[in-house]
Amino acid sequence: MAGVIANNYGSFPVVFSHGNGSVLTDTDGKDYVDFVSGIGVNCLGHAHPALVKAVQEQAAKQIHISNYYNSDEGLAFANELLAASGMERVFFGNSGAEANEAAIKLARKYGWLCGGASAVNGGASAAETRNVIVTLEKSFHGRTLATLRATGQEKFHAPCFEPFPGGFRHIRAGDYDALDTVFDGSVCALLIECVQGEGGVNLIDAEWAQAAAAAARKAGALVMCDEVQTGMGRTGYLFASEELGVQPDVVTTAKGIAGGVPMGACLFRGKARDVFAAGDHQSTFGGNPLACAAGRVVLRELRAPGFLDRVRRAGEYIRQTVRGWQLPCVKEVRGKGLMIGVDVAQLAAAVQKSCLESGLCISTAGVNTLRFLPPLVITDAEIERGLAVLKTVLVQTGGV
Ligand SMILES: *Cc1c(COP(=O)(O)O)cnc(C)c1O
Repeated sequence: MAGVIANNYGSFPVVFSHGNGSVLTDTDGKDYVDFVSGIGVNCLGHAHPALVKAVQEQAAKQIHISNYYNSDEGLAFANELLAASGMERVFFGNSGAEANEAAIKLARKYGWLCGGASAVNGGASAAETRNVIVTLEKSFHGRTLATLRATGQEKFHAPCFEPFPGGFRHIRAGDYDALDTVFDGSVCALLIECVQGEGGVNLIDAEWAQAAAAAARKAGALVMCDEVQTGMGRTGYLFASEELGVQPDVVTTAKGIAGGVPMGACLFRGKARDVFAAGDHQSTFGGNPLACAAGRVVLRELRAPGFLDRVRRAGEYIRQTVRGWQLPCVKEVRGKGLMIGVDVAQLAAAVQKSCLESGLCISTAGVNTLRFLPPLVITDAEIERGLAVLKTVLVQTGGV
């Protein structure tokens, strides 16, 4: 296992060969309940029959054609996604970071077209271009240089990677005072991660988010939501911004969008709709028919009657159950839908490791936070089985 994959990941010494529903199997035949779903990607679980069928059939027709041309599956998925989301245009890429790069470029061009503060009053200068993007402290937006800089966590700005692109400013979610001062004439967009996944599964207060969006709009800036993790049903809504009461001009999404086939999307509408012109932004693989065929199945499943209700109920059930254990080592349980964070007294990484040994895949978000991102289709029986492992491990590792 050692010596072939770059050192970047620090992966666990387990090798999976296949999965079924929300259970993964390793090469020794041992089963694991999957509360990770590939970091919120395998929203339909493993070996979902409709997804498998669509990918197999599409692979036999056409996998890729480039964006010189359109594909039937690409146009169909774009239409269905726009109809479901209320957005007006979509750019397809291959990952969350790439979707956010598209949003950043769109916002910069929007600002450039509008001009700086004094352009509004007649007479712009280059130095006054509107190019600053405001993001939130504790946010996470990706691993490319620009999205790292957009990320509101110091640990992602390691000096060894300098220079980073400039033009980002961070404010604390919930800080009303910041809203009075941050949106000066240099700001072209506000970018909100609707539930901060990587940063600890932190919920954003809806009233504050609405006030922030209003302040951004008043200053002539775009409102953008990073729904790479929260989007596509994860929080029990197609997009978490719906529940926050924020109507973004730009939304990015990725992780679960095609059920595990790599894909990202940047959706825009209104004054953001026609900012990009031919040649402004492109991607070789973006929106290829294989990914779009998979995306269509995911969207169809998410929109089946009762599907998102079940996501909300299953999430609430997990949170209530973990709280109900009343273990002293469990400090806080929070989340939306099937995006759940549990603060524990012990090191989350140690709990994660013990869970894996006992047959449960679970993720972390920070030193003391366990992160649950199970497949959206996880069954009641799989939830019980996973929670039983977690409880045993917490009792064993949590002291009294
Ligand atoms: C995972 C994630 C990203 C980055 O997505 P990649 O597909 O890894 O590039 C960006 N933003 C948020 C909120 C994420 O959770």
